[in-house]
Amino acid sequence: MADITIKNVVKRYRDGYPAVNDVSLEISDGEFMILVGPSGCGKSTLLRMIVGLEDITDGDLLIGGVRVNDKAPRDRNLAMVFQNYALYPHLSVFENIAFPLRLRGTEPEERITELVESAADTLELREHLGRKPAQLSGGQRQRVAMGRAIVRDADAFLFDEPLSNLDAKLRGQMRTEILRLQRKLGVTTVYVTHDQTEAMTLGDRVAVMRKGELQQVASPRELYEQPVNLFVAGFIGSPPMNFLPVAVHGDELRLPLLTVPVRPEWKDGIGDRTVLVAGVRPGHFEDAALVEPAKRDRGLTFTAGIDVTEWLGNEQYAFVPYDAPEDIARQLAELESELDGERLRTQMCVSLDPTSQVRGGEQATLWLDPTRIHLFDPRTGENLTRESGPSAHRVGRLGTP
Ligand code: ADP
Repeated sequence: MADITIKNVVKRYRDGYPAVNDVSLEISDGEFMILVGPSGCGKSTLLRMIVGLEDITDGDLLIGGVRVNDKAPRDRNLAMVFQNYALYPHLSVFENIAFPLRLRGTEPEERITELVESAADTLELREHLGRKPAQLSGGQRQRVAMGRAIVRDADAFLFDEPLSNLDAKLRGQMRTEILRLQRKLGVTTVYVTHDQTEAMTLGDRVAVMRKGELQQVASPRELYEQPVNLFVAGFIGSPPMNFLPVAVHGDELRLPLLTVPVRPEWKDGIGDRTVLVAGVRPGHFEDAALVEPAKRDRGLTFTAGIDVTEWLGNEQYAFVPYDAPEDIARQLAELESELDGERLRTQMCVSLDPTSQVRGGEQATLWLDPTRIHLFDPRTGENLTRESGPSAHRVGRLGTP
């Protein structure tokens, strides 16, 4: 096993477009690192450079402290686990797992048997060694694919969207399976996905990419609670964070449905800006009727016209339409186009307790803890209210020049 160091790595394809642009990332020995971002952000390119399937245009790649830019894939001792498992249908589970050892051709037969059986024990596949892949469940096939990586004694496992072809239920099961195995084996793992739920549930740390650039590298919790910018705030979390236009009037922030007193800790961040974007997660609103009086006094209460509600059993979503003031909407229009669909919506989503009596077509009194509000610069997208911690990783303007 080994750590992986990515230093100022650039990938330009022939058209000159930087698919990966000056990315630096330290992946510790045994760490489960997720590369996540929307389609086309460069995450697969970065993974393929690590494994050696793409040349590195610029920068350095070190595995276990050794520069491997010019090493062939087979000399990097990494194991790639592919989306479709890439199992040979005509070979038994035993032979599928043994395949990389046979390819290497240096291990005696007894040693191959020993390695395959030991991997099968780890993966709980011992009684299936004689079967063909078609006789296995999806989960067992995934384990066979990992068995191949295990017998090679690879320094790291690399996954490229391994679950994207599966239905939601199987995907959930496989996710748990991969996590359990990674913990058991303690092997350095780099895992590419466009799915924020996979990223949040699997990663020790998550590297969020956009347009070839790293936006933030942090634990799932830090990404959720302290996103560096609008892009990360909108990408991480489901349902997504609400973005609301804000007009600054002295010591007050005017949002579409409520007025928020400026908190002392926000002053430096706000500076002399007159327009901001507020970010509030749906789950940080509550039905005021369900909030204890002492707590209610510490937060903000406001009236909202509810459009519709969706009841899901363990929570319910209420949708609240609003009008953004014309002048602010205009000032924020440029930012909207920057954010690829992470729009300043004209309705917000509020996640309420399932016992709430709030109903569609009625007025409701909602409650919000103001300390949960994030404020973003409308031009750069930077989170102005973020507490910068030791693992803070800032980049500039949403990854665009
Ligand atoms: P992701 O995995 O995040 O979806 P990719 O790494 O596959 O993104 O692609 C990043 C960017 O590089 C995209 O704009 C894509 O079109 C481009 N790209 C990927 N592979 C090639 C290639 N072989 N030649 C030219 N451009 C490529």
